[in-house]
Amino acid sequence: MAAALSPLPGNPAVNRFLDKVNAEYENVHHSYEEHFWSTKMKLEGASADKLSSSKNEYDSFLSSAARLSAVREQLNAEGLSAEQRHVLSCMEKTFSTFITEDPRVEEYKAQLNQLEAELATERNAMALGYADPQGGAFHKASSVQLRNTMRTSDDEAVRRAAYEGLRSIGPAVAQRFAGIVKLRNRLASAAGYSNYYDMKVRQAEGFSLETLFDMLDGLEQQTRPIMEAARKTLAEQKGADALQPWNTGYSLAGDVEKRMDPYFPFETAVDVWARTFAALGIKYRGATMNLDLCDREGKYSNGFCHWPQPAYFKSDGTWVPSRTNFTSLATPSAVGSGKTALVTLLHEGGHAAHFANVLQHSPLFSQERAPTSVAYAETQSMTLDSLAGDAAWLARYAHNTAGEVIPLDIILEKIRSTQPFGVLMCRSMLSVPYFERALYLLPEEEVTAERILALADETEVKIEGGLAGRPLMSVPHILSDESSAYYHSYVLAEMAVHQNRAAFMAKYGAVVDEPRVGRDMAEVYWAPGNGEAFLDLVQKLTGAPLSSAAWVKDLQTPLKQKLEEEEEAYRKAVAAGPAIAPGQQADLEMRIRLVHGDELIADTETDGGLAGACAKYTEWIRKTWP
Ligand SMILES: [Zn+2]
Repeated sequence: MAAALSPLPGNPAVNRFLDKVNAEYENVHHSYEEHFWSTKMKLEGASADKLSSSKNEYDSFLSSAARLSAVREQLNAEGLSAEQRHVLSCMEKTFSTFITEDPRVEEYKAQLNQLEAELATERNAMALGYADPQGGAFHKASSVQLRNTMRTSDDEAVRRAAYEGLRSIGPAVAQRFAGIVKLRNRLASAAGYSNYYDMKVRQAEGFSLETLFDMLDGLEQQTRPIMEAARKTLAEQKGADALQPWNTGYSLAGDVEKRMDPYFPFETAVDVWARTFAALGIKYRGATMNLDLCDREGKYSNGFCHWPQPAYFKSDGTWVPSRTNFTSLATPSAVGSGKTALVTLLHEGGHAAHFANVLQHSPLFSQERAPTSVAYAETQSMTLDSLAGDAAWLARYAHNTAGEVIPLDIILEKIRSTQPFGVLMCRSMLSVPYFERALYLLPEEEVTAERILALADETEVKIEGGLAGRPLMSVPHILSDESSAYYHSYVLAEMAVHQNRAAFMAKYGAVVDEPRVGRDMAEVYWAPGNGEAFLDLVQKLTGAPLSSAAWVKDLQTPLKQKLEEEEEAYRKAVAAGPAIAPGQQADLEMRIRLVHGDELIADTETDGGLAGACAKYTEWIRKTWP
């Protein structure tokens, strides 16, 4: 589909080297990802042993010192072209991320793996739940269920008990976590960094902890007065008790989501997503995607999107399109499943669009692990899923099964109940990186269970204005190595989302159904892959350095103005209609296979394109969830 590039200029022996490393990488990556998919989806013949052996092969490929020195040797080859140097540098950067030169680092890593495994076991074995305020019977509940109970239970005593359940995680893990924090800092110092947080930021984003907090501090200072005003408004509207950590989420959850539900039918989600992206000018360059959207017994209980085949050009210019595996856990008959499916499709399909459009000469540029920046990757998916909140999008794409568009008053009610309190979500996101920084800056002798728990409370009060409905110590990210010290990526990505949207609005007057949006994202953000720095790319697309200005401006917008703007956008959008009408063919230049475990439900290649495949899928859903 995508035209082949001309062959890579320069030294032919270097091209042979690049092809060899690329092919080897593809091999280990592909094998691991296929086993990952088949075990998580519980397919016929799936093997946990093969998953773990392919993971080991993949890890040892990435951390081979011999391969790194071979790459460095090639960097000194005669007749090297700038393009070849670019590819070799990406290889060097990738392999150095996974190799550590100081022998103590390996030792610390092994100890950390051990401690983290113990912590995880302890955390999983915890009798998490809440004591019934009437009668005291203990209800077992996961942290997700506890948060749900807090949001939905009409009984304040139950909400409080659920909150106490969440609070009980901290004291249960703090002792062991203190040991982990100390060891993480020792590891960072052996690897040559000032502390663990600094190490993670430099490795993942390529800039320092100071640079990160320059940006976060701007957001923190500017949103503090907005947060204080929002808390005051909440107390005035719903009573001072609404500020209690177990009450805030409940006070803010209206029933508007229930009213929105019929306008997001699950059965049309794939079609709506495809038309939305096609109208944005997004193409997948010959990619293939397996979509396994529905829940079933034994399926892994977390949605994800992975790429067994990263997209790239071989050195002779041949294009290798991406292959994507994408899963969610929808129960089509449940309330809210259609909206969740749609937002997931916009989000994960956004990641897939990004990685399908990386136009470089190695799969190392288009894989989702380090050195690909999390903030960079999330910016793409979050910019695209943000559309689902826009009146301009809702008025075009949110239809019930009778084909009626979502009424304006539902949208306005949604804005009224969320706009004044959007800042609380922002502050809740911010409090995680502030807590983690404080944690890794503690002198070693102060890293104790008591100090950690106190620090969590202090941070909640300081950043969120009071104890948080989501206690910091219950945030799973901070505990495990992979996800610790990276929560700031979501904050940076959200900043970039607002900045992107403001830039598109200024340039084109629209985001929804504006084909230049997809074109710009592909050209600026996606084509270079991880070969360019996130902050440079944001500046290139928006014409300004990444800052919190656009986000702050959105949070500051008075409710009345927001309602007027969205009402106008709604009227215009209803008059215009969607660029691609329901049932009309949306061409994403992608083969989509709708699967359910081992079962192939529909395939765009054999079922008459996307419209045909979606019709077949709808039929299957109606039959399976009558
Ligand atoms: Zn994501």
